[in-house]
Amino acid sequence: RDDCPEAGFTIKEALALLDDSPVLLPEQLSLWRWIADYYLCSIGEVCKAALPSGMKLESESVLILNAEGDTSQSLSEGEAEVLALLRKRKTLKVAELQRRFGLRGVLPLVKALLDKGLAFVREEVRDTSRHKTATHLAESEGIPQEPLPSPLSEAQGRVKAEIEGVFRDRGVCLLHGVTGSGKTEVYIHLISDTLKRGGQVLYLLPEIVLTAQLVDRLRRVFGTRLGVYHSKLGDRERVELWKRQLSSEPYGVIVGVRSSVFLPFRSLRLIIVDEEHDTSFKQQEPAPRYHARDTALVLAQMHGAKALLGTATPSLESYRNAQEGKYGLVRLMERYGQVEMPEIVAVNTAELRHRKEMTGQFSLPLLNAMRSALERQEQVILFRNRRGFAPSLECHACGWVPRCLRCDVPLTLHREGQRMVCHYCGSTYAVPTQCPNCSCQQLVRLGYGTERIEEEIQTLFPEARVARMDQDTTRTRRAYESLLRDFEQGRTDILIGTQMVAKGLDIERVSVVGILGADTMLAFPDFRAAERAFQMMAQVSGRAGRREKKGLVFLQAKDTSQSVIGQVLRGDYEAMYLEQMEERELFQYPPVGRLVYVFMKHKDRSVADLLASEMASLLRADFAGRVLGPDTPPVSMVRLYHIRKIVLKLERGLPMPAVRRRLRQLQDHVLAQPQYRSALFYYDVDPY
Ligand code: ADP
Ligand code: ZN
Ligand code: ZN
Repeated sequence: RDDCPEAGFTIKEALALLDDSPVLLPEQLSLWRWIADYYLCSIGEVCKAALPSGMKLESESVLILNAEGDTSQSLSEGEAEVLALLRKRKTLKVAELQRRFGLRGVLPLVKALLDKGLAFVREEVRDTSRHKTATHLAESEGIPQEPLPSPLSEAQGRVKAEIEGVFRDRGVCLLHGVTGSGKTEVYIHLISDTLKRGGQVLYLLPEIVLTAQLVDRLRRVFGTRLGVYHSKLGDRERVELWKRQLSSEPYGVIVGVRSSVFLPFRSLRLIIVDEEHDTSFKQQEPAPRYHARDTALVLAQMHGAKALLGTATPSLESYRNAQEGKYGLVRLMERYGQVEMPEIVAVNTAELRHRKEMTGQFSLPLLNAMRSALERQEQVILFRNRRGFAPSLECHACGWVPRCLRCDVPLTLHREGQRMVCHYCGSTYAVPTQCPNCSCQQLVRLGYGTERIEEEIQTLFPEARVARMDQDTTRTRRAYESLLRDFEQGRTDILIGTQMVAKGLDIERVSVVGILGADTMLAFPDFRAAERAFQMMAQVSGRAGRREKKGLVFLQAKDTSQSVIGQVLRGDYEAMYLEQMEERELFQYPPVGRLVYVFMKHKDRSVADLLASEMASLLRADFAGRVLGPDTPPVSMVRLYHIRKIVLKLERGLPMPAVRRRLRQLQDHVLAQPQYRSALFYYDVDPY
């Protein structure tokens, strides 16, 4: 009360003190404030993303009874009353109790029941069966003794020493190590050393790589000192892990997805960001739209911890920082155990089609290689960066394409269930039988998705066991892991998938990889298209021949003369980097300049238009030519809201705090006008 922050704040009475000891550490709060400030959102939005539901009671929180709770504990009168009510009703909203006990009374009661394990807060994604299995797996597979990590190879040992050298005078090191070089082993040794010195480690991974495969590998070395934090974890486990981190015996190592940057750490000494280039580190929706890699670097700095970014295909952002000396750079360019890098062959499908050497989407050389691999009991991966059956339908006569009524994007044809699906909002539609425009009944399928590829492969290889891995077949963690396990254990011969198959798979018997439709990746309307295509192709190629035998990769494209394809063939990251940086320089795109997207949403199309043009002219008064738009984004309407977008392209030298302050001021100014009151604003800072 004596240190009221600044003028303009009114002091309110505290309603109740819920926790005996703080549930947040000061570093967490500073990090969250940094996120809210940097990514232009509210601290409330950050808290919402960061805290498990059981730790942020709101009046909308729903309590459920724990039927297995220990009822012999002594309860206060109020606690007993709430419990009795809960027994009768099974679920209760905090808001309902509020009426009975008053806001001041209710929170401590609920908190006490939660602490005594007699009730839970319902999770948003309720899937108790799944998370129970996950815990069970994690605990039962812990191996009793803790064997030492495998010894490093000579090259790995040298790399580890180089990283330690970098850390002597710099906070961040980029490890550029080819696929299969054993980066994970190097991490394991660094983690082990950090634990010996009493430090904690945070090991960040893209969502999908966080598989049983890797967790088992880490658990074998770190046993019960390892904690796992992923998005499918139940709320109860989240709360438990959180509390454990605050206790006197926290986990030494946390391996987790992007949201683990929010966890409490008392003695964080090392952060590893594996596959640092991966786009899933950036949260797209909802706010906070933060980048977990960049946030992790801030977190490391706050703790005085070191940060190691590892990948076979660095993001241009990180590589540039390394080139400029901001990060140390360490290279590991050979695979572990004399395994050779795969041989990559470009296949010009336009030419082969002309020579009648294509069957559907598959070239003769690819099909032949697949056949002989299958004869030798080896496995095949086919990669196509597009899910569904056919990207779209088109009227043969007038060119009409079915679109989502809520989002205005073309629908994707899904064969399973015979429906059209919107990949933005998930709405499904019946497949039209005739064109509503011209009544023509000839609707043709355009392009190929993974589903269509699966169907054709199954026809071409009737004996083979074929599986598909994409968003549609991996809705649950269990589905994903069982697909993966079948492939690992040789129960699947051919695995077809989207970029999910490119991520971190370490499977012995994959000898052939096919990359289908490389052109479409390169034609994607995004300034990062070439970088992304290089990363995906190099990563998926890296799945081939990870043991004794050299792998073979077929890279199919209509135009194989594109420079990125040549760079993938030669494994020449440096050439890709230099060429792409030239373009980024020319257009002031990141990492040369910075981008901030300003989004405005309104249910009324004309209000959205007016608002956007008013905001754009206000911005132009300050930022002049740095303002692009307003524009109607490719997906111009989502869930009935019309979206408008303004792009700010800012040079590096510009002071960002001032820019952010100005953006907030202008937003407030515009929203104060009655006609725009129901508009929504949000930002994407460093869109990725
Ligand atoms: P990366 O992450 O760089 O792609 P991994 O760490 O998955 O590579 O290593 C590739 C394979 O080589 C894995 O199967 C791993 O177990 C094996 N490997 C790498 N280094 C060692 C080592 N020092 N001792 C034993 N096996 C290793
Ligand atoms: Zn038509
Ligand atoms: Zn939609």
